[in-house]
Amino acid sequence: MIDLGDKSKCCGCSACVAACPKGCLKMEPDDEGFLYAKAVNAAACIRCGLCERVCPMRNSPEFPVARHAYAAIMGDEKALARTSSGGGFYVLAKDALEFSGGGVVFGAAWDKSDWSVVQKSADSPEGLEDFLGSKYVQSNPKDTLAQAQTLLSSGRRVLYSGTPCQINALNLFLRKKYDNLTTVAVACHSVPSPAVWSVFLENYCLKNSVSSIRNISFRRKYDTKYYGKSCMGFAVENGAEKAGKPQNYWDTPFGRAFIGDLISRPSCAACPAKESRCSADFIIADFWGANFEDPSLNPRAGLSAILPNSPKAEETLARLVGKFSLLRRFPYEAAAKRNEGIRRTRKPNKDRDKFFAEFTRAPNAAAKYKVLLKWTTPPLKIRAKKTLKYCIRAVLCELGLWKAVGKLMGKK
Ligand SMILES: Cc1cc2nc3c(=O)[nH]c(=O)nc-3n(C[C@H](O)[C@H](O)[C@H](O)COP(=O)(O)OP(=O)(O)OC[C@H]3O[C@@H](n4cnc5c(N)ncnc54)[C@H](O)[C@@H]3O)c2cc1C
Ligand code: SF4
Ligand code: SF4
Ligand code: SF4
Repeated sequence: MIDLGDKSKCCGCSACVAACPKGCLKMEPDDEGFLYAKAVNAAACIRCGLCERVCPMRNSPEFPVARHAYAAIMGDEKALARTSSGGGFYVLAKDALEFSGGGVVFGAAWDKSDWSVVQKSADSPEGLEDFLGSKYVQSNPKDTLAQAQTLLSSGRRVLYSGTPCQINALNLFLRKKYDNLTTVAVACHSVPSPAVWSVFLENYCLKNSVSSIRNISFRRKYDTKYYGKSCMGFAVENGAEKAGKPQNYWDTPFGRAFIGDLISRPSCAACPAKESRCSADFIIADFWGANFEDPSLNPRAGLSAILPNSPKAEETLARLVGKFSLLRRFPYEAAAKRNEGIRRTRKPNKDRDKFFAEFTRAPNAAAKYKVLLKWTTPPLKIRAKKTLKYCIRAVLCELGLWKAVGKLMGKK
């Protein structure tokens, strides 16, 4: 039986649970809300070794990598507004659905009973809506690996999307290649703790008088007053009304904890699925820094980078050119060099363990939120500098001088 003692060697994919023929394993959350495989019926183990063979943390071979990337924006403007970057995922998913015989798409959606994130399937365009937009919380794979296998074996077209380790887990679990399967991995900085998310959301709803959540977006596209377009708006919709204005996700305590690697899953510091270790047909990402390649491109407004990793991916993109309002080829490096989610495994934050020790000890949600604030509020000096920068920009914008000053300073 697989050794389950070391948390940094489990990414929570559930492949071992799905593969075990004797029901010896089960997924269970820890205090941080991350799911881990756990032995529940060790006596029944027949030592077949399947659990080890399907584990993406223990099997991480090299695959061919994309040699180029496409900057992409999809043509359907209505759907584009609900996506995080350029909507690359939607075009691929819609194509899979429309395949003759009808395809099935798997992706990450909100579980609206508790606003956690789960993997599930959809076989209609309405169902795809649930997958749009990045949810920066680890998704629970549930039994989607087995569901996908059943569909594939019956000959249905399947598109499975998820984090790179979830895609590697699916491919290992399947143990054979299926022509009717397309896999799409989102580039992945890391996945944040579901327990911290739940505390953050509870506090957000209390502070903003949100009584009934209708939807949550980490990546609402909106016009900021002084910084132009942004695709990083965090917003919670309350009942029929919109709750507050979207705010910059990176300025929320949860966003700061995520980007600072304070609340990432331990296995992300030993990611088995970055770059050439990712077995997905496609990697989809934000094309950060595209404006340095071509100043007419604006990633802040939402621009996808699509990296085709297989001949199947290249063929699919060639067929779908007409579905994009922009599909332009760049060298792989242009998309990868400024994007750690594609390129590099993140180092763990040195304070991670201290943070979680305090967070776990705190007796209730209010006290836990205080711990989150304590560890994520920037020092006064940094906040003052940021406010000053904002004020200078605001004044220059109001006077109509920002563009001229920006040009003088060589800003793109
Ligand atoms: C946890 C996380 C970290 C990321 N880190 C980076 C990064 O460092 N750099 C980068 O360029 N891009 C990153 N991304 C991807 C990026 O946010 C966009 O999802 C991507 O650019 C695709 O955008 P889109 O407009 O094509 O599709 P969208 O419609 O915005 O996204 C939908 C796709 O995202 C998937 N998805 C959403 N939430 C999750 C989740 N919790 N787990 C698994 N899959 C999910 C859906 O299944 C679907 O495939 C990350 C995404 C997630 C979820
Ligand atoms: S060795 Fe086989 S039977 Fe034992 S836990 Fe692993 S998969 Fe299950
Ligand atoms: S990474 Fe996946 S397969 Fe490996 S132990 Fe964890 S849940 Fe099981
Ligand atoms: S960083 Fe790697 S291990 Fe962590 S969720 Fe993303 S793909 Fe999985």
